[in-house]
Amino acid sequence: MPQISAHCKALNNTLEKMDCSGEMKALLKTPQRELIVELPLKKDDGSIAIFKGYRVQDNNSRGPYKGGLRFNENVDLDHFRDLASVMTWKTALVDIPFGGAKGGISCNPKDLSENELETLTKRFIEKTSMLFGPSLDIPAPDMGTGPREMTWLMSAFEKLHGYSPGAVTGKPVEFGGIEGRVEATGKGVALFTKWACEEEDIDLSSRRVAIHGFGNVGSHAAMILSEMGATIVAASDASGGWYNPKGLDITELRSEQGKEFADREIEGEKISSSDVLSIDCDILIPAAIENTLTKDNANSVKARLIVEAANLPTTTEAEEILEEKGVTIVPDILANSGGVTVSFFEWAQNSQNFPWKKEKVDRELESLLKSAWNNLVQSRTEAKESYRQTAYDIAINRVRVAMLKKGFR
Ligand code: GLU
Repeated sequence: MPQISAHCKALNNTLEKMDCSGEMKALLKTPQRELIVELPLKKDDGSIAIFKGYRVQDNNSRGPYKGGLRFNENVDLDHFRDLASVMTWKTALVDIPFGGAKGGISCNPKDLSENELETLTKRFIEKTSMLFGPSLDIPAPDMGTGPREMTWLMSAFEKLHGYSPGAVTGKPVEFGGIEGRVEATGKGVALFTKWACEEEDIDLSSRRVAIHGFGNVGSHAAMILSEMGATIVAASDASGGWYNPKGLDITELRSEQGKEFADREIEGEKISSSDVLSIDCDILIPAAIENTLTKDNANSVKARLIVEAANLPTTTEAEEILEEKGVTIVPDILANSGGVTVSFFEWAQNSQNFPWKKEKVDRELESLLKSAWNNLVQSRTEAKESYRQTAYDIAINRVRVAMLKKGFR
C-alpha cells in the first residue's frame, strides 16, 4: 500500500477551498510535461546496462522550471511527479522567479564506476537537452548527485549549446558556481529551526536536537545548529545511528565523510537509524528520504518541533498523529528552501557574469528566507492553520494568480 505524503493532503485542502474553476484546479494538480528516456550504457566490462531517465516539469508560470536531478534506485514517474510539485510550491513560497521540476536516473550510483556515471550523466543530457536551458529548465543537485555531476551535465549541455553556466546550478565555484551553495540547504534548515524556536518560545541554546540522515543537508544543519548552541544528541545515516545525551561531537562525525556510522567509533551509544526518530529530544530533523515519519512511528516521537529537511518525509497519517500530540512541523517546502534559494543567486550571478561574494550570499539568503518566514507566521496567525497548510495556501495562490494573469502559457 503506497504511503500518501502530507503534501498531497495539504495540496488537496488548498484546492478544495480555492475559489477557482475545476479546470484551474486540474492544471495546478498535474505536471505540464513529462519525459522518460531510455539510457543504454556500455559498462567498463563491455556488458550493456539499460537505465531510465526522467524529467517532470510541473509548472513554469512564475519562471523557468527548477529542480534537482536524483540518482537513486527507488524512483519512478509518480515519485518525480510529487517531488516536482513540491518544487513548484517551494519556489513560489520563497518568492523566487522559478517554477518546479524534478528528474533523474533510476540507478544506484554506488554500483557504477566514475567513468560509467559520467557517461550516463552526459547521455541523460544528450537525450533531454531540448528541455533544458537558463530560461527553460535548470537542474541542480539532489539525492545521489552533487557538484561533480553538475559539471558533467554542464559540459554535455555546452557541447550542444555553447557556454551557458546558467543552465545548471550547484556547480563547483571554479565553473561558475556560487560560494555557499553546498551548505545552503543545511543553513536554511538551521535558520528556520532558530526562528521556529523563537516563535514557539523555545530557547534553542538549551535544546536537544536529533538528526535523521547525515548527508549534505543533515550534516550541515547539525554543524550550524551546534554553532548556534543547540546540543545534537542523536544522528544517523542509513547504516545506523549514535546517541549521546551530552552531545555528539559533530566535527568528528563530519570528519570521516563517506565512512558509515555503523563502522565508526565515537563517544556515545550505538543505536539503529530508526531509533533516532523516537529518541528523547526537543527538536527532530528528518533529513533522509521520503515517508520517514509514518503511522507506525509517529506516536513514539518525543520531539516538540519537527523541521523537515528532506522532501516529503511525513505521511498524512503521521502528520495527523503528530498534530494530535501538539507537535509543530515546519514543512519541507519552507524548511529546505535554502538550497534552491542559493541556486537562484547562482543563476543571477551567471546572468551577470560576475561572481557574488560569500558575505553577499549569506546576507541575501538570510534576508529572503526571513521574509518568507515572517509572511508565513503572519498568514498562519490569521488563518489559524498549520504551517504546512498555510504555506500551501500562499504558494498555490501565487501560482494560480500567475497562470491567470499570464493567460495559461
Ligand atoms: N534538490 C534541491 C531541492 O529539493 C535543490 C533544487 C535546486 O536548487 O534547484 O530543493
